Amino acid sequence: MLKGKVAIVTGGTRGIGYEIVRKYLTNGAQVILFGSRKESVDKALDKLKNENPDWKVDGMWPKLTDAADVENAVLAIKEKYGRIDILVNNAGISQNTPLYNYTPEEFDKVIDLNVKAVFYAILPVARIMKEQGGGCIINTSSMVSISGQPAGVGYPASKFAVNGITISLARELGKDHIRVNAVAPGVTKTDMVAALPEATVKAISSKIPIGRPGEPEEVADAFLYLASDMASYVTGTILSVDGASKA
Ligand code: NAD
Repeated sequence: MLKGKVAIVTGGTRGIGYEIVRKYLTNGAQVILFGSRKESVDKALDKLKNENPDWKVDGMWPKLTDAADVENAVLAIKEKYGRIDILVNNAGISQNTPLYNYTPEEFDKVIDLNVKAVFYAILPVARIMKEQGGGCIINTSSMVSISGQPAGVGYPASKFAVNGITISLARELGKDHIRVNAVAPGVTKTDMVAALPEATVKAISSKIPIGRPGEPEEVADAFLYLASDMASYVTGTILSVDGASKA
């Protein structure tokens, strides 16, 4: 489904991002995954090449909250691979801090990575996509961008902003043949959820209409669909993959 496409996936070393990378590789893309440290990038690349030595995968670790660093990485990718067809903004952090314990620094931290870094990556990539005649950007939102959450207000605030960026840029960039969408996962079984006690996972699951957390592979399928030609007329969409949790 993605043969010949060049894709960047931020936060591709573990969790949902890692499964997006695998899904894109399985479907023939050249993937450049971004991680926060060289060690975690090398570890992910080793694991992927172990699984399939023919997969075309590379890794980088620009500081996502530094616009210049991200731009340099993007330009290096364009130089090496000639084009960028898909940008997945997946790296993100969450917060659960109650309002009365919040610090401005903590709020800034989540906004810097979940919002500003999304904008910093889109800026140089969109210019390249326009020049080459099109492309596709997929941001990672969350079900809390629709329902909010009972503590840690910075996190839903950041994901509401991701939806705003997605819908607005879809309108602005449509004429340049750049599609912009987001995936809004519900509770997904990444390391963080897998590490919770069984009783906690049971309690969370009982509130999910489908009766269980999502698997990272199920979320990655939505990223494959949106990146593929099957979604050629889909833009400005926030695609929920949450077992109806937000209902
Ligand atoms: P995870 O913690 O397993 O992975 C996060 C990824 O982001 C990692 O690859 C990590 O290296 C990267 N990252 C974190 N901080 C970074 C930084 N400062 N600079 C660069 N990279 C950084 O998380 P996940 O659950 O796979 O989450 C991926 C995305 O999905 C996030 O945007 C998250 O908000 C969203 N999401 C997750 C869930 C869930 O239940 N897991 C639900 C809704 C949305």
